[in-house]
Amino acid sequence: MGRYDGRVAAITGAARGIGFGIAARLAEEGASIAVVDLNAAAAAEAAGRLPLAKGAKAIGIAADVSQGAAVDAAVARVVEELGGIHVLVNNAGVTRDSLLHKMTEDDWDLVMSVHLKGAFLMARASQRHFVAQRYGKILTLSSTSALGSRGQVNYSTAKMGLQGFTRSLGIELGPFGVNVNAIAPGFIISEMTDGAARRLNVDAEEFRRTRAEKTPVRRVGTPEDVAAAAAFLCSDEASYVTGQTLYVDGGFRL
Ligand code: NAD
Repeated sequence: MGRYDGRVAAITGAARGIGFGIAARLAEEGASIAVVDLNAAAAAEAAGRLPLAKGAKAIGIAADVSQGAAVDAAVARVVEELGGIHVLVNNAGVTRDSLLHKMTEDDWDLVMSVHLKGAFLMARASQRHFVAQRYGKILTLSSTSALGSRGQVNYSTAKMGLQGFTRSLGIELGPFGVNVNAIAPGFIISEMTDGAARRLNVDAEEFRRTRAEKTPVRRVGTPEDVAAAAAFLCSDEASYVTGQTLYVDGGFRL
């Protein structure tokens, strides 16, 4: 008997990285999964690789989370094809790092649209179902960058904004049986951090090693580290936890 037997989770940006890690963990624990990502083929391929429990299903859905019509259609498909929705993980994300004087309006707008507007649109489309059934879990990916990060004023603003989003939505939706929480990861091995290494012209392994040395637990994180925390926060064991941001960062910010 898994903690997620009979549950349906929609996870944005789950074609790879942290989102895929969360999808795999919830699938292992019994959930049916909708992988929502930009590219239909990548989303379907990821859905096909999930370790599903008996009777559970996984589908890939192509949607840009910053587009209202696409989001509404994606959530409608989740409910129609998987029989409902119980968990939403707002994980889709992008970075457009640069120092302020070089940051373009597009760099700013894209990061705000995907993280802030994306989380808003996905939560709005899902809460209709959550409130009607008096049950739901919303988990959003923040970041240690929320606390301040050179070259990331756009990303840092969005990630701290999502902590406010989580607190406010926790207040609004708590009376309707909906828990709203966030995870703020530190450095997690993924295409996002490998891309940052490439931009800085540093070898990816070296980049991880340097960061591990500065981290109290002396290692960088993996998608599985985030997935373990996500599996707790979206489960019924965390039903008295809401409005929180849990830092999963090996103590990096301390
Ligand atoms: P990643 O780049 O490996 O994966 C991001 C996924 O989001 C990709 O599959 C991408 O196609 C998808 N995506 C991007 N824009 C989208 C859009 N508009 N609509 C739908 N899907 C979209 O990144 P990751 O490292 O797995 O990061 C996942 C989340 O965790 C992000 O929100 C990121 O900001 C956050 N995070 C990552 C780290 C880290 O160290 N990797 C640390 C803190 C927070």
